[in-house]
Amino acid sequence: MVETSTQGGGRPNLPMAGIPQPKREEVLNLPRVHISSHPVMAHKMTALRDKNTQPPEFYRLVKEIGALLAYEATQSLALEPAPIETPMATMVGQRLAGGIGVTPILRAGLGLAEAFREVIPDIQVWHLGLRRDERTLQAMEYYNQLPHKVDLQVAYAIDPMLATGGSAIDAINILKLRGIPRLSYVCIIAAPYGLLKLSQMHPDIDIFVAALDESLNDVGYIVPGLGDAGDRQFGTF
Ligand code: URA
Repeated sequence: MVETSTQGGGRPNLPMAGIPQPKREEVLNLPRVHISSHPVMAHKMTALRDKNTQPPEFYRLVKEIGALLAYEATQSLALEPAPIETPMATMVGQRLAGGIGVTPILRAGLGLAEAFREVIPDIQVWHLGLRRDERTLQAMEYYNQLPHKVDLQVAYAIDPMLATGGSAIDAINILKLRGIPRLSYVCIIAAPYGLLKLSQMHPDIDIFVAALDESLNDVGYIVPGLGDAGDRQFGTF
């Protein structure tokens, strides 16, 4: 979990202390940022945030919220005609055109990836391991299962918590190198600081958020937030 002590070498472990942060109102209307206003989402978010919600229920809620986010984030996907026969007649239906990929940032993004797979079963899952250094809050890549052959129309980088924005920016940088025509970022809770950073660094992507919170604390955790999204999903306290 989060440490607030001084680490070896006398370096204080308070990387956000004294760093100015934008207010919530300042980032509410950023271009290409979509913040959910659905009452069902708000209802589920309250249960998710509650500290008494235990890991099995927490994981179930991450998947339910993830399915709602997936539904919102896929709203403008391209379709192609699909001729079929119903038991009554022939008709031309529609199918999603081109490949769709989801990149969960390990490990906290795994629950959201399951949600995306439930909404779009043939989605490709490209795992990406980014760990943040708790002292510097810099993201470090430790695992990459991105395929060499890229045949996607769109990829979604997903991580429940958009805190300082470091991992999000790195994940989008990595996906951009693969030449995917369209990229989006999907998270459950965003802090204004990370949301602004991501939007400024990657103004050409859509960002989907279930809830926008107030701020980051001195150690870079979102307030009011929900604590550590990985620990709460997987019971590793
Ligand atoms: N990661 C988390 O799991 N929670 C936060 O509040 C910030 C980053």
